[in-house]
Parts: sequence; C-alpha cells; structure tokens
Amino acid sequence: NFERVAARFPYHVALIEAAPVPGADARRWSYSKMNDDVDRLARALLALGVGKGERVGIWSPNCAEWTLLQYATAKTGAILVNVNPAYRSHELEFVVKQNGMRTLVVAPSDRNSDYVGMARQALAGCPDLRELVFLPDPGAGLDDAVSPLSDAELTYAELLKRADAVGHDALKARMAELDPHDPINLQYTSGTTGFPKGATLTHHNILNNGFAIGELLGYTEHDRVVIPVPFYHCFGMVIGNLNALSHGAATIIPGRGFSPAAALEAVQDFGGTSLYGVPTMFIAELALPDFGSYDLSTLRTGVMAGSLCPFEVMNHVIADMNMKDVAICYGMTETSPVSTMTRQGDTLEHRTQTVGRTMPHLESKIVDPGTGEVLERGGIGELCTRGYAVMEGYWNQPEKTAEAIDAEGWMHTGDLARMDGDGYVVIEGRIKDMVIRGGENIYPREIEEFLYTHPAIQDVQVIGVPDDKYGEELMACIILKPGSEPFGPAALAEFCRGRLAHYKIPRYVDIRESFPMTVSGKIRKVEMREEAVARLG
Ligand code: ATP
Ligand code: MG
Repeated sequence: NFERVAARFPYHVALIEAAPVPGADARRWSYSKMNDDVDRLARALLALGVGKGERVGIWSPNCAEWTLLQYATAKTGAILVNVNPAYRSHELEFVVKQNGMRTLVVAPSDRNSDYVGMARQALAGCPDLRELVFLPDPGAGLDDAVSPLSDAELTYAELLKRADAVGHDALKARMAELDPHDPINLQYTSGTTGFPKGATLTHHNILNNGFAIGELLGYTEHDRVVIPVPFYHCFGMVIGNLNALSHGAATIIPGRGFSPAAALEAVQDFGGTSLYGVPTMFIAELALPDFGSYDLSTLRTGVMAGSLCPFEVMNHVIADMNMKDVAICYGMTETSPVSTMTRQGDTLEHRTQTVGRTMPHLESKIVDPGTGEVLERGGIGELCTRGYAVMEGYWNQPEKTAEAIDAEGWMHTGDLARMDGDGYVVIEGRIKDMVIRGGENIYPREIEEFLYTHPAIQDVQVIGVPDDKYGEELMACIILKPGSEPFGPAALAEFCRGRLAHYKIPRYVDIRESFPMTVSGKIRKVEMREEAVARLG
C-alpha cells in the first residue's frame, strides 16, 4: 500500500518537520525517501529479532522518527504501542508491563521530562523489556543524545546500521505473512475518566478509518496537513498521519510540543491546506495577540475533535482562519477513532452544532443506558457504534472488553447523544458528567454553550458538586478573558435570568487560571469535581 503511494508520487513531499530547534532547518522527506527510510528502519527491527505481534513502544513528543516508526512497525507486523509523553516512571512501567513490551524507542530528555532516566529505570524493572532505542537530540543538531550503558541500549543511528544485516527479501517475506486483521497498534485511552485502557487496533481498523476521513475531507496529493496534535493519540496518528499518507498528501509537524504560534507558522511557511486541533488549541491560536499577522490563505479545511467543540469557537475558525470546510469529528480511541463527522456541503448550522453523521460503513444507534432499548429519534441516550472501526478489544482485559462491546458487536461509548431525523448527531457529554439536580437531568454542555456568549468568559466548564438538598448543585468554572473583572454567582445569575431555566443557573462560580488537562488537551472534569468537593468541604 505504502509502496503504491510512494511509486505514484515519488517526488511529492511526504513529511516535513518544522525546525526542531530555533534556527535549524526544517527536515523533509519525499515519498520515495520516506519509503526507503521506513524500509531501513523495518529491516533494523527485523535484525533486532522483533517478531510479528511483538510490542514496540514509542515514548516521544511528535517528531519525524515517530511517523517513520509507525510505518516501519506496520511493515514488520509488530504492534506499535503509543506511550503518552506526559507519563512519569510509574505510568510508563504500568504500560510496559501491561502489554509485555519488548522494545521501547525513547525521546531525548528535555526540560520537561527525563525520558532517558525513566526509561532506564523501566528497563531495570520490567523483565520483558529487552531494548531501549534512544532518538537523536534536536538540541545537539540531531546527534546522538546518549551513550549506551549496556547491550540493551542502542542509539537510533546504531539501530539503523543493523539493517545492513537484513535483506529486502526478508522484509518482503515478513510482509507476506501479515493479515489485515492482525493487531498493529495498541493505544491507551486518554484517561479522562479513570485509568487508561489499551485499545487493540488492527490494520483494517485504522487504515480504513484514516482513509475514509480523508475521502470526506476531499484530500488529494496536493494537500498539506498540519498536525499539532500529539501522535501518541489516534487523532494525530490516524486522522493525521495515516489519512495524509493514504491520499499521498504531506504531513507537516509544526513542533515537538504544542505552541499556537508554531502551528500557525507551519501553515504559513509550508502552505498548509488543513489544520488539526482540539478546541483548546484553536482557542489558543485565535487568542494570539498577533493572530491577524499570519498568512492563513492556503487553508481550506481541518479537523476539530476530541471534546465538545463550542459553537462560538467553530464560528471563529470558519470565519477568521479561512477554514470554511473544517470538519468536526467525534470518536474515541476504541473506534480508531472517528465514528461520526461533518461533511463538505453541510450547512454552517450542522458544522457548528452537531458532530455530523455516521461514517460510511459504520452504524450508530442511541439507546436507553438502563434498558438498552433504541430510543425514538431526538431522545437523549447512550451512543453505540458498530462496524470496521471498532477495536478488537482492550489488551488483556476481557472483562472490560465485554463491558464495552456487546455480543452483537456494538461499542458502548459512554457518551450521551441524540440524533435528528437526518442522522445528524449531537453529543450531550459523557454519562459520567451528567448532573442530576433535584431529580432533573442536566447536561453541562447546554449551560456551557450559553455561558460562552458572556462577554467576559474565555473558557468555561460546568460541573456538578454534591449538595444536601438537591443531591447535586452546579458550579461554573470560568477562565476570564484578559483584562475582565472577576464576578461571583449573583452577577452570573443576573446574566442567566430569563434565558436559562432557574435550575440550570450555576449556584457556584470558580474563577480559575486554567483547567486540569490530559496531554491530548482534554479537560479532566473528574479531577475538577474532586478539587471542588475538597474545597467546598
Ligand atoms: P478514558 O476513556 O480513558 O476516560 P477518553 O474517553 O477521554 O479517556 P479518548 O478515547 O481519547 O479517551 O476520547 C474519547 C472521548 O472523547 C469520547 O468518548 C467523547 O467523550 C470525547 N469526544 C471526542 N470527540 C468529541 C466531539 N467531537 N465532541 C464531543 N466529545 C468528543
Ligand atoms: Mg473513553
């Protein structure tokens, strides 16, 4: 497949990593060069003895080697394990042990994280882990960052040298053994609601998902897709990398971590046609003081996904960022990830107020979470997904898998949604985030959408906190726009009066500087609730 794209567009740009450190040059790969480099890396993995189905982890912020390894593991039939770059040693060891990982590719340590030190600790503590491979350090001009301490440690350059011992035929022979339904990727969920679970995904799951999304975005080999979202998440590696690859488009990596300015610079410098982000990323880009000075005229589309996308933000993205065809995607790691999305040709209303319709060849239904009965159109219940994108299961967790995927193959998402007569889906939030106040079901999203219209509010999350009288009460956690005066519950109630039902008006206001987030940019409401409960005593 990869070879076919490379043969069709050998000189097209496949991959660009914007200057990894200030002042350096961008790194570029044509499709033909990328194919050669991926082959070399795949043969090097074979030289190490990596077998089909063995787990090879990558623990790094976005970089070109991440993408190359993604394709190299796919060619060898190894299962790539995406390790969250924000993990610290005990989380790393949990993941390494949970799936019996044999090889871990490790980022150079940086200001934020001692990757090398923590990986060495894991090597000592996890008997199945046989090799560490250290990625080159952009700070040192991409020279080796570390000197190996033992035979179990290799630099990336040394790994590549091993490829000389393995012929192209050996790789071809391995590829001939692979089946589309083999697992290829183990992705841990974001851990927004609890401990991450490892979703086991096959070639068939993620390739189809990546390709189908690009079809709906109208990608061609002329697109240049700017990906500031982390590769460790499905959003980056499937909606991003695989999607671009399967259409012969270019993947642009703006930087190792997220910076709103770097994302817009990458669009400007490399002629980005498509820009990705979770809502908080777009909010940060739009809020840049020099936002107006970036040339975004090459943009036409993009994807916003990962959490509820405020209508106001979507309107600004369309109007101010030149992304008139931007899509909202909804999905989860367990569904590779996308199960619904908006399409070219959808109205502005559909694009700002729904997560679109079910992907081609997938099915959706909305059921009563208690009884499992399918609801009438328009009723709010649990969204369930079935079809090619649904994972094989959670790695080594058969009970959790059985709770999530029922006997008929429906993945129960844990999200509340409704569907209109034309099949457009509106996500109301997670079942776990619903607030029940005095017997009334309240969906925080509705209140959040309304509060976004407040002139002083930049970002807002509504949570439920325990209350003796009503069971739960509402708290609005607010980040103010710069220069706005703080206010309390009385002023907020004044703003809401006459426009929101009385029981939906938040009783508490918590003005904050930031929200607790996962690395993928999701707000951890569970943690906010715990903090609020502790504070309210
Ligand atoms: P965990 O399952 O570990 O608690 P998580 O569910 O956040 O974490 P992911 O698989 O990364 O892990 O995220 C999937 C969830 O993200 C969905 O179940 C949904 O709640 C939310 N989500 C994704 N896209 C959207 C969207 N466009 N609108 C609203 N919510 C979304
Ligand atoms: Mg989840």
